[in-house]
Amino acid sequence: MRLILIFSILFVYSLAQNTVIINSDKFKFKDFQVGYFINDKKKVDFKDIQDIQFSQGKNSDTLGAEVKDTWIKIKLFNSTKDIQNVFLHQDIAYTFYSIKYYEVNEKGNLLNKQTLNPFDTKNSELYGADAIYKLTLKPQENKTLYIRQHTLAYHFYNFSIFSEKESKEYLVYEKVDGILFVGLLLALAIYNMFIFISSRYKEYLYYSLYLFSATAWIFYMYGSLAHYMHIYGDIAIRFNFGLMFTPVFIALFVQTIFKTKNEYKTEHKFLNSVIILLILNFIYALINFGHALELLSLSLNYALIIFLFISISIYKKGNKIVKIFLLAHTSYLLFTLYALMFYTGNVPFSYISSHGIGIGIVIEALMLSYLVSYKFKIMEEEKEVQRELKQKAIEEQYKTQRQFLEQLEIAQLANLNSEKLKDLNKELKNISITDKLTSLYNRVKLDESLEYHLNYSQRYNETFGVIMVDIDFFKSINDSFGHQTGDIVLVEFANILKANVRQTDIVGRWGGEEFMIICPKSNLEDTKVIAKKIKEEIENFEFTTVKNKTASFGISTFKNSDTLSDIVHRADKALYQAKESGRNKICAN
Ligand code: GH3
Ligand code: MG
Ligand code: MG
Repeated sequence: MRLILIFSILFVYSLAQNTVIINSDKFKFKDFQVGYFINDKKKVDFKDIQDIQFSQGKNSDTLGAEVKDTWIKIKLFNSTKDIQNVFLHQDIAYTFYSIKYYEVNEKGNLLNKQTLNPFDTKNSELYGADAIYKLTLKPQENKTLYIRQHTLAYHFYNFSIFSEKESKEYLVYEKVDGILFVGLLLALAIYNMFIFISSRYKEYLYYSLYLFSATAWIFYMYGSLAHYMHIYGDIAIRFNFGLMFTPVFIALFVQTIFKTKNEYKTEHKFLNSVIILLILNFIYALINFGHALELLSLSLNYALIIFLFISISIYKKGNKIVKIFLLAHTSYLLFTLYALMFYTGNVPFSYISSHGIGIGIVIEALMLSYLVSYKFKIMEEEKEVQRELKQKAIEEQYKTQRQFLEQLEIAQLANLNSEKLKDLNKELKNISITDKLTSLYNRVKLDESLEYHLNYSQRYNETFGVIMVDIDFFKSINDSFGHQTGDIVLVEFANILKANVRQTDIVGRWGGEEFMIICPKSNLEDTKVIAKKIKEEIENFEFTTVKNKTASFGISTFKNSDTLSDIVHRADKALYQAKESGRNKICAN
């Protein structure tokens, strides 16, 4: 009698350990024991299922990237007095090649068999992203479910057991995080696309495209693709490559916002290597998808390391804003690595480990959004500095003129001879048309000269050329080395211009770091020759502190009936084209 008691206690205990006991009409099991068997080597079929030794496991687990084929054993017992309909859910089932269910009674007889093949789009029994197997348990009935699952990339699974009502609720309510992520990213993507359309700043375009590709991946990963668009299996799995485009657009974004092409040449090349590698990976995917998918994690790791390395390097070179990118990307990196450790079976199943990449992307996207909005602040500051510099220049000019006028007055009062007066007058005239910093002509003289050549060319049927020159990335000199160095570079630059034009050409400072050369009696070809010569001289010149610098050139030549603003506007437009086409270029209009 005592023995029976001990055995029954042991029986109930073991039942409680391994069996999901249904004891009410409303049930929801998200944490229970299952048995698992890795089937990769032995290839055990259902007929031999009784012979194998199952390991004890949890309903949510990860077995890594190596394991492709497993058996899962779930024991169920209905302790109520009613018939219970049981719904076994399996999350993200669209990442499986196939899932086979074998329903077995207490005596070991097969009651039902069902194969679910998410890759067969016509025959798919997925509910959104979940696979659901339904079974019925009579009162006091025991059943065992054997589930054989084949995965494509990583072997992780998450089973839940629900009554009908809970099953429906789970499908509707517990999937909102994915929808939230998608909604958030999509709104940001569209908003930034609009900013790009109106501002034409390319960083907004790349940021927006990055967000679109990240959204596509999350849309797939969280099963929304399956849920809303009924895209499963073979096609759906290709959305993994959305993950490949995100680093491509991030690389382009970083290249644009930090102007790496000219400012950080080595970093620029590394970013190009990321873009090329991922595009090659994509092309390879068109040939051999499975293998390309395996290589993708290598390419992604390479991208992550390069991003980290280049942001630290740009930061060290004095660009402080890059720390926002560094912070954004480090969080993405950490979450992604955590998720990859989960996929490869090194950390257990949890919300964060199984959602790592999605969470990482959302955090990164939000931080990068702060970075692009920072651009407005930078632009405002630039404008402010320019305004101040202009104001300072005007004041200086006035001050010198006033001093001379005073001297002139003194001279007149002192009844100086007319020779001396003439000299002073000449000097005054010079000052009023000279730029103080560079000693080139100033805007007053340039306007005057343009007017003169317009009239002259019209009257004598002549032509003349105008070259507008703007130093490339001048602002970064001020940012990195201070305004004084900026000023020195301006003087050196002005000297190069002066030394390389003809006696009859007029060189002046148009404003800031923009210069104008007026070339009398020169057609387009003649003007281009001058611009080309100056461009080369600048390229080869070693500037103080900053060493190498380049400039962009916009050329226009006189056309009959041109007004002053017409010819200047055309040169300006050409300069804009030269900047747009990559800088250190000569364009004509
Ligand atoms: P890019 O022309 O290639 O597009 O880039 P950039 O960095 O040269 O562009 P931008 O025209 O925006 O910057 C010009 C900067 O020149 C802004 C202003 O702070 C600086 N600047 C203008 N005048 C002076 C000056 O007299 N001295 C110094 N040090 N800086 C000046
Ligand atoms: Mg400029
Ligand atoms: Mg410039």
